[in-house]
Amino acid sequence: MKTFKIEIQPLNLSLKRRFTISRGSRDEVKNVLVKVYCDGITGMGEAAPNHRYDESQQSAIRFLTDFDGYETENAYDISLLVRKMNDHAPGEYAAKAGLEMAVYDWIGKKLNIPLYRLLQAPGRTGPRTTYTFGIDKLDVLKEKVEEAGPYPLLKIKLGTDYDKEIIKTVRELTDKPVLVDANEGWSTVDHALDMVTFLEKQNVYVIEQPMPAACIKEMQELKLKSGIPLIADESITGRESLQELSSQFHGINIKLMKTGAISTSLKIIHQARKVGLQVMVGCMIESAIADTATALVALWADYADVDGHLLVTESPVKGIEVLPQGHIQLKDLPGLGFE
Ligand SMILES: [Mg+2]
Repeated sequence: MKTFKIEIQPLNLSLKRRFTISRGSRDEVKNVLVKVYCDGITGMGEAAPNHRYDESQQSAIRFLTDFDGYETENAYDISLLVRKMNDHAPGEYAAKAGLEMAVYDWIGKKLNIPLYRLLQAPGRTGPRTTYTFGIDKLDVLKEKVEEAGPYPLLKIKLGTDYDKEIIKTVRELTDKPVLVDANEGWSTVDHALDMVTFLEKQNVYVIEQPMPAACIKEMQELKLKSGIPLIADESITGRESLQELSSQFHGINIKLMKTGAISTSLKIIHQARKVGLQVMVGCMIESAIADTATALVALWADYADVDGHLLVTESPVKGIEVLPQGHIQLKDLPGLGFE
């Protein structure tokens, strides 16, 4: 039997610049730092709660506080923890992800093995990550293209009434491949199709969540007509039928803060492959702690969007690295590989 002491702290992260998407703007995110202690070893995790899923820093802290003194007969069987968390309360997937990540980090350290090896990842280097542009006025885009200098792939948030101008302005400045994320911003098939047709000529390699999650019939029609892979984000929390989603999308964006666990994310990736869905692994705005866990999952992905830690002013630790060509890489250290 092992007992974990759990320490929880608010982790308020300032953004390097105001971040706007179709739902609103933020200058700061309120995440939660999770530390677990047992046998003289510390594991570390982070929760990035999201209002869209009825979560907040307070609700995550409340959930995690209940797990202080967590006892388990087999600390190495992560499924016991996942089951216990899901039995304890519905929702709160960010908090659940933060705690599972911390216990996984602890397991790796206790066994003195990097998690990417323990979980038999294809290697410790993953796909190239995008660098994300929130929505801004056109005159700010030039500065952003400069900021994105070393990163070869751009992710551009759309869902405004000047979407085409945003893309045209970026295209005057750079020919880097672009991933577009509309965050449910296009509400009719005609509008979405007009955008897809325009984007097909703009070196756009993926479109994330073009229409609201409720637009199932509309997405089925759009998928048949789109020459660019369409990836589900708001349409997937991890609890939907992947078979059904594959009628609307070419792929899914998996986020730890929505699935609630590294282990669950890996299972979903496996199931997605079975129904022929492409896999993207994305992040929230989070520090290098959660982004390192996200990068671990992204080792199995086709596309990576793991730039949360690049958008905040500082992280409590170092972990994930972005190589000069944009590939994400984990450190060859026990656990998640924090320094
Ligand atoms: Mg998205």
